[in-house]
Amino acid sequence: MSTVIQHELIGRFREVVDDDALLHAPEELFVYECDGYVVEKKAPDVVLLPTSTEQVVRIVKLCHEFGVPFVPRGAGTSLAGGCLPVGGGVMIALTRMHRILDVYLRDRYAVVEPGLVNIHLTRHLKGTGYHYAPDPSSQGACTIGGNVATNSGGPHTLKYGVTVNHVLGLEVVLPDGSVAELGGPAEDVPGYDLTGLFVGSEGTFGIVTKIIVRITRDPAAYRTMLGVFETVADATRAISKIIGAGIVPAALEMMDQGIIEALEAAFHFGFPLDAGAVLLIEVDGLEVSVADEAHQIVKLCEDAGAREVRRADSDTERQLLWKCRKQAFGAIGRLSPSYCTQDGVVPRTKLPEILDFITESGARHNIRIVNVFHAGDGNIHPILLFDERDEDQIARVMKASDEILGKCLELGGSVTGEHGIGVEKINFMDKLFQPNDLAVMADVRMAFNPDGLCSPRKMLPTAGACGMESIERSHPGKQAAS
Ligand SMILES: Cc1cc2nc3c(=O)[nH]c(=O)nc-3n(C[C@H](O)[C@H](O)[C@H](O)COP(=O)(O)OP(=O)(O)OC[C@H]3O[C@@H](n4cnc5c(N)ncnc54)[C@H](O)[C@@H]3O)c2cc1C
Repeated sequence: MSTVIQHELIGRFREVVDDDALLHAPEELFVYECDGYVVEKKAPDVVLLPTSTEQVVRIVKLCHEFGVPFVPRGAGTSLAGGCLPVGGGVMIALTRMHRILDVYLRDRYAVVEPGLVNIHLTRHLKGTGYHYAPDPSSQGACTIGGNVATNSGGPHTLKYGVTVNHVLGLEVVLPDGSVAELGGPAEDVPGYDLTGLFVGSEGTFGIVTKIIVRITRDPAAYRTMLGVFETVADATRAISKIIGAGIVPAALEMMDQGIIEALEAAFHFGFPLDAGAVLLIEVDGLEVSVADEAHQIVKLCEDAGAREVRRADSDTERQLLWKCRKQAFGAIGRLSPSYCTQDGVVPRTKLPEILDFITESGARHNIRIVNVFHAGDGNIHPILLFDERDEDQIARVMKASDEILGKCLELGGSVTGEHGIGVEKINFMDKLFQPNDLAVMADVRMAFNPDGLCSPRKMLPTAGACGMESIERSHPGKQAAS
């Protein structure tokens, strides 16, 4: 953005938001130069922190009037560079719109603002017998608006589904500043399912300013277990046996030896440091069914070669196990200064093959890789450890990441299970989809976002007026400065 435009626009923004909601000093913008994808950085020219839909509308209209690109941001935990202001522009951070507006327990829905931190809704509902089911591991920080934009999953996705299965309606500010209400609290609203279309659009259709979410009855009973295995292959065999037996656990998470080591150092839970892998398995439902399923699961794990299967004997122990799992990424800080979390999917039966490939790729590029993932879904999260001050390490991380994602495709999977495409995986889109499919997606984006000002150069290869044109980059995830 030119200095002249920046100056004039800032003057106009001052009429919309308070001084403390308008950031433009370099040291303030520095905080917003990247999200959880630290490989690529670019500070926005201005950051705004609106507190109402009306302010969002006025900000968007000004961006539209000045022809300036803008990008919405929640908590900035995206691991795919979703919030990166490619080429600069205005960032609209929704974190001050964090109210729970209404809760209708008997109708099982709540209305929330987009900046509400995911776990705050479940905490608010504690004691009512209900909770908000989508639970990304980042739920202590990420916002429900960000979850909607990326269609987040989480450990309990296996049984309860992803964000789109829990969103009934949205209020959105479109890129020209108009407001639309999509869906609504009643099931099966007639007309096109625009709510479903908006969920997962990664900020490329407009800005979500209100969300009607489904709330879910708490299960009557849980059983949480930790299966300890000598090898990843044994653990994977147990997963196949459990699913093959017709049991759908509420969660089925795998952690390999590298993660176990980091977690034990951080939480002292008593994880076995010499185990090849552990499975965190949870079943929930009626007492009688969970008791039976837990019994079967122990037997199936033992049949697959488990060294032992521990049960969480108390709610405190269950909470601690989940705390370990959900803070696994944080614990990695003990292993390396930076990390890049990949997000691929393979058919469950291909897990041993992809995990062997990950180990081999890490060795070839001399990059340490540890794994923690939603194994029940076949959703892998290899975590590549590196030091971002070393360009050569970054290049090797990118090469290994590319290879791993390419292998997921070769095995019949996908390059993202839940983190989205962002800027990081944009060059994989034409490997995943046929040109016609991409053209349909570009047309849909054009319908919402005809000037391309909202979240430009995200998710799809650049959409020109007449179709797709690929972005040339030195490696995937390097277009920020352009
Ligand atoms: C430690 C860790 C663990 C994670 N675990 C999981 C996991 O288990 N499952 C999972 O799915 N993801 C996970 N993630 C990724 C990330 O937390 C999710 O993608 C999350 O939904 C992002 O939410 P956010 O508020 O941080 O959004 P941001 O990172 O701020 O934004 C993400 C995207 O949403 C867009 N956006 C944000 N708010 C809005 C809005 N109001 N309207 C329109 N667009 C908007 C942004 O432009 C961007 O494209 C994890 C990340 C970390 C760091």
